[in-house]
Amino acid sequence: MRLSSYSRRGKNGLALLIDGTWRGLEEGQPAFPGALQTLIEAGGDSLARAENVLKAAPTLDFESVRKLPPLSRPEKIVCVGLNYTDHSSESGFKQPDYPTIFGRFNSSLIADGDPILRPSFSEQLDYEGELVAVIGKTARDVSETDALGFVAGYSIFNDASIRDYQFKAPQWTPGKNFDDTGAFGPIFVTADELPPGCQGLKLQTRLNGEVVQNASISDMVFSVAKLVALLSEFMTLKPGDLVVTGTPSGVGLARKPPLWMQHGDTVEVEVEGIGILSNPVRDRQSLEAVKVA
Ligand code: MG
Repeated sequence: MRLSSYSRRGKNGLALLIDGTWRGLEEGQPAFPGALQTLIEAGGDSLARAENVLKAAPTLDFESVRKLPPLSRPEKIVCVGLNYTDHSSESGFKQPDYPTIFGRFNSSLIADGDPILRPSFSEQLDYEGELVAVIGKTARDVSETDALGFVAGYSIFNDASIRDYQFKAPQWTPGKNFDDTGAFGPIFVTADELPPGCQGLKLQTRLNGEVVQNASISDMVFSVAKLVALLSEFMTLKPGDLVVTGTPSGVGLARKPPLWMQHGDTVEVEVEGIGILSNPVRDRQSLEAVKVA
């Protein structure tokens, strides 16, 4: 099942891609099955029931509607750093034997098509193309063998980072939580449509059409199953939580000279079998100037 959250004429909607056609319903319409976040949190057969309703919904011109993050207010957005050996070494880190975990807040989330904003006081806006796993069932102390049964599905994330703020202190939180830097979506694909843990799928990031990251999900040091097991050792993962699984090599920080994203750029992250997440890059100042004018 392939679902996407969107907004049209101020109403939030949910769309299903079926036989190559998007079909959608919006809040206020009697058959609207609910937001994706609500359906995942409700569990059981909620997604299957939504699929049945959406199959009969009117067709939707997907390109013309405003995209929303597939889930807008996840309780937890758990990010993994240094999860690809070649990225760890390009960043000057020894590959750790325990994943580097940090949090993002949902205030930093934006959708496909929304601009990633660079603050006026930093040049160092970098891209990080990543696979994101969406938790589908409450998980606590689950084994690696069972872990994938707790994943509802997958989507795409750009963990855009302000590097000088990331490294002002040992905790990376500020540089990973600027407003308008956590690009997420546009398509959520249920786990049954993809290989277990997305193993073998290709991940590619393109900046203005040029390939800057190119890897296989199989290159992850800690697989999706391992991450879910390991996180559930110390906290309860809940339906709708996100696990953002880390980025491969090729980030702008590691290049000589560094390659920072700039006003006017377009950045795309593609994960094979899931889709493409595309965002323009803008200076925050330029948008504030527009608001004043
Ligand atoms: Mg990252």
